[in-house]
Amino acid sequence: MKISVKAPAKINLALDVLHKRDDGFHEVEMIMTTVDLADRVDLIELNEDSIAVEVSEGFVPNDERNLAYQAADVLKKRFQIKKGVSIYISKKIPVAAGLAGGSSDAAATLRGLNLLWNLELSDHELAEIGAEIGSDVSFCVYGGTALATGRGEIIKQIESPPPCWVVLAKPPIGVSTAEVYRKLNIDKAKESGVQPMLQAINEQNFDDICEHLSNDLESVTFKLHPEVKRIKEQMKRFGAEGVLMSGSGPTVFGLVKKESRVHRVYNGLRGFCGDVYAVRLISQGHPC
Ligand code: ATP
Repeated sequence: MKISVKAPAKINLALDVLHKRDDGFHEVEMIMTTVDLADRVDLIELNEDSIAVEVSEGFVPNDERNLAYQAADVLKKRFQIKKGVSIYISKKIPVAAGLAGGSSDAAATLRGLNLLWNLELSDHELAEIGAEIGSDVSFCVYGGTALATGRGEIIKQIESPPPCWVVLAKPPIGVSTAEVYRKLNIDKAKESGVQPMLQAINEQNFDDICEHLSNDLESVTFKLHPEVKRIKEQMKRFGAEGVLMSGSGPTVFGLVKKESRVHRVYNGLRGFCGDVYAVRLISQGHPC
């Protein structure tokens, strides 16, 4: 039996870093939403007790370092599954981009194997299992739009922003999330970025959403990689209504309401950056 599962990318509309915890993680508050740029994860049941991974992009690991492998492994061990699975990942989400591609593949694997192996786990149970693999996996189990707290694994689903276009531009550089957090100076006096975003979404006010986009990690990545800041400036110049770096970067996204304008932003950016996408927000969660 074979199942295909969509694994969409996420962007952060607001990202507050509150403090560093005793366990080494940072306590965060984030508003995350999924966009229609997705990997496809194919799962084929195997009768022998093994996990095989193949990835369309050769530089992504195809062994136990792959987050989809880890998702299958956790489920197998926890529920003593004696069958195996062959996982094929067709990558569309740029890798190490701040778009949670690996986490989304892991979440898609959890959702798909829940069906393939008849585990009948709820999203909540899958999200808890996902948190063992990575902080963003829990959100990716649900998709849609959510407030994520704790180290990012405590998920409260919220209404999605009004429909719009999202232009994504990923400069060809690698950003180390660990380094960004290490260099971050946490400003305890800083006002919450999440609260005004929650209000703007609640009011379905597109202009306020654009105005209140905020990410505490942005200035750190800008200092380390000034080209990311330049992409942000270009995106604004070409007419995106709200622009922000996603996660620890380096992808920058721009929100655009009208289709007529999205072509201008997309084509303008293509002159500066090879990896550019124009996609839609996904307003619903994604039961597979
Ligand atoms: P986040 O936004 O959650 O920080 P990211 O978008 O920055 O994630 P990923 O694309 O998930 O980063 O990849 C980060 C690293 O994880 C890569 O360098 C890659 O080696 C490893 N990895 C493991 N599994 C996968 C996968 N299925 N897809 C992509 N990368 C993976």
